[in-house]
Amino acid sequence: MQAGGDDNATWAARDLRHVWHPCTQMKDHESLPPIPVRRGVGVWLEDYDGHRYLDAISSWWTNLFGHANARISGAVADQAANLEHVLLAGFTHKPAIVLAERLSALAPAGLSRCFYADNGSAAVEVALKMSFHYWQNSGRPAKQRFLTLSNSYHGETLGALSVGDVPLYRQVYDPLLLRVLTVPSPDCYQRAAGTSWAAHSEQQFALMEAALAQHADELAAVIVEPLVQCAGGMRMYDARYLALLREACDRHRVHLIADEIAVGFGRTGTLFACEQAGITPDFMCLSKGLTGGYLPLSVVLTGEQVYAAFYDEYCAQRAFLHSHSYTGNPLACAAALATLDIFASEPVLERNRALAARMAARAAPLGAHAHVAEVRQCGMILAIETVRHKATREPWPWQERRGLRAYRHALERGVLLRPLGGVIYCMPPYVITDAEADRIIDVAAECVEVLCGA
Ligand SMILES: *Cc1c(COP(=O)(O)O)cnc(C)c1O
Repeated sequence: MQAGGDDNATWAARDLRHVWHPCTQMKDHESLPPIPVRRGVGVWLEDYDGHRYLDAISSWWTNLFGHANARISGAVADQAANLEHVLLAGFTHKPAIVLAERLSALAPAGLSRCFYADNGSAAVEVALKMSFHYWQNSGRPAKQRFLTLSNSYHGETLGALSVGDVPLYRQVYDPLLLRVLTVPSPDCYQRAAGTSWAAHSEQQFALMEAALAQHADELAAVIVEPLVQCAGGMRMYDARYLALLREACDRHRVHLIADEIAVGFGRTGTLFACEQAGITPDFMCLSKGLTGGYLPLSVVLTGEQVYAAFYDEYCAQRAFLHSHSYTGNPLACAAALATLDIFASEPVLERNRALAARMAARAAPLGAHAHVAEVRQCGMILAIETVRHKATREPWPWQERRGLRAYRHALERGVLLRPLGGVIYCMPPYVITDAEADRIIDVAAECVEVLCGA
């Protein structure tokens, strides 16, 4: 390999010779090279030139308790010294067993069975296949379709992409995807002036009820992101919608899949978002924060009734034969257990309530900005929606790439913010200090100016 310095420019140049980055037009790197990160400490990332960046989006919503967290790093190191991996078919190991026990105890009542996979999209695939297969095993073979909400996001593999509705990610692949039913989202950004979140969400439910009534015989499951449609621009809705949806899914005999991959583990203020509606979904998908942002791992939780529909003599051919090589990887399970230990031993959700209130108060004045249509919040997610015209809420033309300007500005100011179009949001690790949280909001406010400037 070529010689060279141990600096940003050298590593970026070497990167661009071989690494193809996710969710990236690689040509963009001609003007803005990737930032090589040397190390992470708490909420901070440090590059090879010594610049520090406050990770205000938790490295794609995964990190909960900071980078290089001593407790989680220690648990992973201990596990690596003993057992790095073993197949989970025919064999098992303590981290997978204890994690399944603990998740079942923490999850909404009744979710007593844990099926592991190794990333969020894979968990969505598992939930879709399990639901479909359940109906095949239960004498209802016509129930083959899925119903999703507009503007939803469930991952990038073909099944997960099929039940998503963000055109940016799905459009080009449309010919490859499953034919799903899509119902307008309860997204409260769309509510009429003077209407409460609860009232709007409830009104929007009428469309879901109608679709369920019409299609129940062919529907396997409804899939939703509880409370916040994250990749769809941090659009939020009221828990009332989930309560109504649970009741209607039961009445129409359709499964409810809760994709808590982004909103689980305290993001919305409760450990799981479904708790705010007091519901138990038929399938709950978890990933991202599950390992504290350390290692790829996911899990689908379901109940005894679903489990029983697959439990039979081998020759009855009812088993769920899905697998991934790294299913239930011990290192990842150890990271997840250490993460749960932190939740168990520290007042995380309580501390987050104070942090969330602080961020909301500091961001509130931005609502008066001429180009800010809404400042909204749900727990540790705060979003500022900027638009071209406030009165009509006309969005910025996407070709202007205004979010990218804000991204660059934030980096110059030592903060990692990664706007979704015109939506500037923060979703920081839970170990952030008050002063650091203030800094994020202050830089976000500067970003509003930069994004909305001429
Ligand atoms: C990130 C995400 C996924 C996909 O998870 P990956 O690990 O990136 O495959 C699925 N659903 C939701 C709601 C997500 O935010």
